[in-house]
Amino acid sequence: MNNLQRTFENPDMFDFRSFSHRLYIGGQWRQSSEDRLIEVIDPSTEAVIAAVPDATPADVADAVDAAATAAPGWRETAPRRRSEILRRCFELMIERSEMLAALISLENGKALRDARGEVAYAAEFFRWNAEEAVRISGEFCIAPSGANRIVVDYQPIGVCVLITPWNFPAAMATRKIAPALAAGCTVILKPASETPLTAYALAALYEEAGVPPGVVNVLTTSNPGPVTSAMLADPRVRKLSFTGSTGVGRILLAEAAKHVISCSMELGGNAPFIVFDDADLDAALDGAMIAKMRNAGEACTAANRLYVQAGIHDAFCEGLRKRMAALKVGAGTEAETECGPMITGKAVSKIDRLVKDAVRRGAKVLCGGSVTDDTGYFYPPTVLCDVPEDAELAHEEIFGPVAPISSFQDEAEVIRRANETEYGLAAYVYTSDLAKGMRVASKIETGMIAVNRGLMSDPAAPFGGVKQSGLGREGGQHHGIAEFMEAKYIAVTM
Ligand code: NAD
Repeated sequence: MNNLQRTFENPDMFDFRSFSHRLYIGGQWRQSSEDRLIEVIDPSTEAVIAAVPDATPADVADAVDAAATAAPGWRETAPRRRSEILRRCFELMIERSEMLAALISLENGKALRDARGEVAYAAEFFRWNAEEAVRISGEFCIAPSGANRIVVDYQPIGVCVLITPWNFPAAMATRKIAPALAAGCTVILKPASETPLTAYALAALYEEAGVPPGVVNVLTTSNPGPVTSAMLADPRVRKLSFTGSTGVGRILLAEAAKHVISCSMELGGNAPFIVFDDADLDAALDGAMIAKMRNAGEACTAANRLYVQAGIHDAFCEGLRKRMAALKVGAGTEAETECGPMITGKAVSKIDRLVKDAVRRGAKVLCGGSVTDDTGYFYPPTVLCDVPEDAELAHEEIFGPVAPISSFQDEAEVIRRANETEYGLAAYVYTSDLAKGMRVASKIETGMIAVNRGLMSDPAAPFGGVKQSGLGREGGQHHGIAEFMEAKYIAVTM
């Protein structure tokens, strides 16, 4: 019996099948108006595990109505009360963390240990924003002319549409919902149709925590373009917060521009992972395993290009090959799995194409490198070395367990190569010279960079990208909440 069966056979835990076939709108669990369904697939077995509703335009209108109706009450709810409800969401997520991790692992395929990490990270957005909800302050000063006082009041922006990807089904949602609710906004969440069950499971948890009806609404659709357009066309919607690919982000920015809607965009990445000769080799290898293999490489911050200085290059390649080849690949829900399947067969085909292209251009395969399993969307942990600069995977997100290594000679060269991308989300640098680490960090064109660390995500730090990796920040002191507020300036004569 695996962990998942154990979890769902425990009567204290709810069964995800109980909220199959239901949208969550205005505090009601209801069928879609046309009763169309989207099948949810277990990527480890390719079996259908559940079905969720495929929302229609009528459902969309209901969701906007529900969010708009709940907005005045939530906005007027005392910050302390909002904070307590958010805190309760955090506590319930921690209490239910095993069940949530099992559910994430089932529908996304990620290893249970990654899913547990995600639940802890996702819950933390509620704790952090419960603390922030009571610390929203304004500004007050004398106008330079002396004629009046300048008062700046921060107000909730209004009804928000939140769109999230499948790679972190819990965390990408709570990273938006928690600050939006702390700011006093109401929301409509559209999760990825590959991983909707976690979103609905969390909606049930928010309800239990005391989030009033209509404050959070969840709808799923197989047709996200028209559904999102319908929501953005409603003048009561004032905010779009999107996490996903740069391609879809561009489409949504254009759609939001028609209605001049405020946008926050967390988009794709192409993170360089730089190791200098003077780095601690074991620490760099540990960091590379985290930066590359958290979520089996399906992370926007995943190390996509590994640049290793010539003097340490061979030892690093051999060390990484050993570690990657030793990983246990299997169904995410099996306790011992370290690398689960990819999300879809299409994702596996993309990785396969990128690896074949790199090999054709001269890269050498140190381990992995070809699809082996017939059932399930698996791709083996793969290390490539001598990867040429023109390989497609140096310019596209791999989003899988492939570590492409190439060597470099000096600091100026690696900074130039690291910046040769339209993306600018995350980067990593390993060196024992902190001044060099800080110098490189300041010259790399990304929103985030980890120095001698393989992980940078933290609800207390501003997460986001520059260039085509996005607009705005999530998390951090003030940054995450600020995305859901408008500054109102009041001029007062005293
Ligand atoms: P995706 O862009 O295909 O989909 C993301 C979401 O957008 C899903 O909910 C999807 O249903 C929806 N969507 C797709 N087309 C749409 C349309 N025309 N209109 C409205 N919504 C639409 O991305 P994905 O494959 O789900 O996720 C992987 C991508 O997300 C990667 O590029 C990854 O880097 C990025 N990502 C970024 C961050 C970040 O914080 N910067 C975090 C996680 C993932």
